Amino acid sequence: MRKYIGAILALTLWVSCKEDKQVTTEELVQVEPIEKVPVTRFGFNIEEFNVVQDTVRWGDSFGELMLKNKVDYPKIATISQNFKDTFDVRKIMVGKPYTILKSKDTSETAEVFIYENDKVNYTVVDLRDSVFAYRSKRKVKYVEREVGGVITNNLSETLDNLGVDYAITIDLSEIYAWTIDFFRLEKGDRFKIIYDERFINDSIYAGRGPIKAALFEHKGRPIYAFPYVTDSLKNILDYFDQDANNLRRTFLRAPIKFGYRLSSRYNLKRRIAYYGYKVRPHKGTDYAAPVGTPIIATADGTVTESTRRGGNGKYVKIRHNGTYSTQYLHMRKQKVKKGEFVRQGDVIGWVGMTGNTGGPHVCYRFWKNGRQVDPLREKLPAAEPIVDSLRADYVEYFTPLKEQLDCIEYTEPIFESEENLVTLNP
Ligand SMILES: [Zn+2]
Repeated sequence: MRKYIGAILALTLWVSCKEDKQVTTEELVQVEPIEKVPVTRFGFNIEEFNVVQDTVRWGDSFGELMLKNKVDYPKIATISQNFKDTFDVRKIMVGKPYTILKSKDTSETAEVFIYENDKVNYTVVDLRDSVFAYRSKRKVKYVEREVGGVITNNLSETLDNLGVDYAITIDLSEIYAWTIDFFRLEKGDRFKIIYDERFINDSIYAGRGPIKAALFEHKGRPIYAFPYVTDSLKNILDYFDQDANNLRRTFLRAPIKFGYRLSSRYNLKRRIAYYGYKVRPHKGTDYAAPVGTPIIATADGTVTESTRRGGNGKYVKIRHNGTYSTQYLHMRKQKVKKGEFVRQGDVIGWVGMTGNTGGPHVCYRFWKNGRQVDPLREKLPAAEPIVDSLRADYVEYFTPLKEQLDCIEYTEPIFESEENLVTLNP
């Protein structure tokens, strides 16, 4: 009987996932109307013109491009003087695409100049009759994408293998910056993400939208993340977990942004050959990074020291409150002075090799009540959770997103073994 109920439950879950998926494709994919007549570009019927497409090159100026295409000087002057707010001719950038629509008659005079500010936004300079300029946007289609991945080596590589925009690596590492140590991911850690991809003309990728929901499973512990605005007046958006806890902590996990190597951990029993294998405790956490990498404050606070002393080299110490202070050693140069107030994430200096150090790194020291402790083992205080009055609303909002996440399947990593190669190349 037990088994029977189990089977029914499993079936129900499977069916609900299936159904959800259908709802997802029909309702959640936001499709803005796209132009159906293919001969129209930038709002012009291109069959009426001779079309020239190129990119801005070194040494190009708007004036020269126009003169070359038979636009007279007074018109060029009008554009550069009267339409600065719309189109500042001095700011055209090398590498940006532009299109010139020329008259179809023998004079081949430029009639319209279109400058592409980015993949979505463009500026039109209409040179026919009285000259004018305006900005416009291409029609963008949003396509929701679901991804499930398993970590093999590191996050960015795994996402790259799944064909996910690198920006999503950054977004994800920022969402979980306080709760998951991306320097210590393990094989088998896995994640799921729901986000939008933007497309122009149905096919040209134009960047990612914000992450709508995520799940990260580190060492088998699942942490969901849902964006939620807790203060609509101040427009404060944070990511919260399935228990309405803020994923943000009062301290960042590392003094360097994503992508650097944890080279030595806090270790009171460390023995080093250099000191004849005697115990030389290491009361810091070392993050190796190239010289010049920005070092950031892990929490808001007041700079109490910014100086150079002995083996510490150039360093900064920040007092966060009555309990915690943090210290950052071996800087090439400090960016802040004693007495200055810094915000979490502010750059306070750059990685260097001053003091006793074998290579470029920042030695991060975490002080609690005047004693140095291991920040990676410290239970760091969380930022504000969702207030009781908003809890019901939050649960109602995230429940369907959570169901959708739960239905995403993990793409199993492909390992290149000899066996695989044999089957692929018989
Ligand atoms: Zn150190």
